[in-house]
Amino acid sequence: MDTDLTLSSLRDEGHRITRVREEMVKFFVESSKPLSFGDVMRALEEAGLFVNKTTVYRELKFLLEYGYIAEVYLYPRKVYYELSDLRHHHHLVCEKCGKIDNIINCLVDRLERDVLKRKGFKIKRHTLEFYGLCSDCLERD
Ligand SMILES: [Zn+2]
Ligand SMILES: [Zn+2]
Ligand SMILES: [Zn+2]
Repeated sequence: MDTDLTLSSLRDEGHRITRVREEMVKFFVESSKPLSFGDVMRALEEAGLFVNKTTVYRELKFLLEYGYIAEVYLYPRKVYYELSDLRHHHHLVCEKCGKIDNIINCLVDRLERDVLKRKGFKIKRHTLEFYGLCSDCLERD
């Protein structure tokens, strides 16, 4: 998805495009990793927009309902958000510095076929995240 395209389709559907909404759409397009609520707050502040938490929550809810972003759970009770139309991928989460990276190769196909064969269960989607140490933290270890 592209920022201008998203904004114009939102506009076509009669949604208001506020400065905050516009900036948030931009953050998600430009970010290569999932963003937490705190990341979004910080990014808005850096863009000179000082908004309260309720507004940000409302905006995230709007973008979720609109199907523009999706929730990603990397830690218990901590939700991140990323564009919903990204190519299927998995996350590498550094447990030391919290850095998140993506990997796009998925090796689960065989397991899915096996589950269908053994259990008769047809897997439609999956999430799989990896936790460990990133290269920077590994060097400093
Ligand atoms: Zn992701
Ligand atoms: Zn790290
Ligand atoms: Zn996968």
